[in-house]
Amino acid sequence: MTQKIVAQAHGRVNLIGEHTDYNGGWVLPTSIPQYTEIVLEKRNDQKVQLISERKESKREYIYNLGEEIPTDSWVDYLQGITKFLAPLPCGFNVHISSNIPEGSGLSSSAALEMSFLKALKELFELPHTATDLALLGQKVENEFVGARVGIMDQMATSLAQENEAIFLDTLDLSFERVSLPMEEMDLLVINSGITHRLSSADGGYNQRRAECEEAAKICGAKFLRDVTLEDLKSKDLHPQLIKRARHVISENSRVKEAVLAIKNKNLPRLGELFYASHASMRDDFEVSIPEIDLLVNLASQNKNVYGARLTGGGFGGSVVIITKKGTKEEVARELIPRYEKETGSKGTVLV
Ligand code: ADP
Ligand code: MG
Repeated sequence: MTQKIVAQAHGRVNLIGEHTDYNGGWVLPTSIPQYTEIVLEKRNDQKVQLISERKESKREYIYNLGEEIPTDSWVDYLQGITKFLAPLPCGFNVHISSNIPEGSGLSSSAALEMSFLKALKELFELPHTATDLALLGQKVENEFVGARVGIMDQMATSLAQENEAIFLDTLDLSFERVSLPMEEMDLLVINSGITHRLSSADGGYNQRRAECEEAAKICGAKFLRDVTLEDLKSKDLHPQLIKRARHVISENSRVKEAVLAIKNKNLPRLGELFYASHASMRDDFEVSIPEIDLLVNLASQNKNVYGARLTGGGFGGSVVIITKKGTKEEVARELIPRYEKETGSKGTVLV
């Protein structure tokens, strides 16, 4: 009988710590129930056969190891991996199934890479650690797929187990597993139905990065992680740069405070930090949009909600909400129709 290897990786949502990654800061992603599963079977030749259940038309692709060519499609995430792992001893068949929605900010791409890498690690007894696998996935997205991504998604999908968040230092990649008090809380993620409005997402992202780099430079630091609010006051910075830097600096503190709140099971405090993070993204970093602000406001009016905030890069996307245990369905049922009525956009429960 041929050897079959099965491996999984869950999607992720970032609880707090937004736009901190490229500033050498901290993030706090947690795994979500949805996951991607890979089944690997060895072959006697050098071919790789890829099948993704989800892809209706282009669901199958075959290539030879060592002949990975970018195709501008989903197979590149896997081709990139075998290219960078070369040489591998033999080919294999890959069967992919997943219930993580694609392109919704839940990291289906990193889950695809990490489930594949976990399976390859087992099949070929690779020496890679979870961090090595994450770095390889990031390299594939940056250099083979052509997506400029940080390390959070891969670290989260490589490491996070159920009901735990990963408190990650994005500069040295040290991390701590923080278990979430799921006996007292529910996690809800609602998509605004607005994907990265116009081209403002890319342009806005690059502009924010450049502003952060400039602010750090004026303060004599490589990264804003090493700048304090006092430093900002003592330097002659443009008011807009002060706002951008203030978001990053305060967000880094909020991530650390959130970890403490979670450890103390202090959910009201965690909720306050969520709202403060949202206000900072809205007012200082200016990456929210009215529809997302509305979702957060509507959530804040519900007595079962501890806190809500924009999660992800912004200019659209989703909100992450912490509710009292057993109330997430009720909160979503109350919130979504009001959101849809006021905006005309469709709100969807992702988690
Ligand atoms: P996100 O990671 O937030 O879901 P991305 O744009 O980074 O969004 O990645 C989505 C892409 O990942 C899809 O367009 C597809 O190419 C690939 N992908 C993710 N999951 C699968 C899957 N199960 N089968 C095939 N391709 C997938
Ligand atoms: Mg992705």
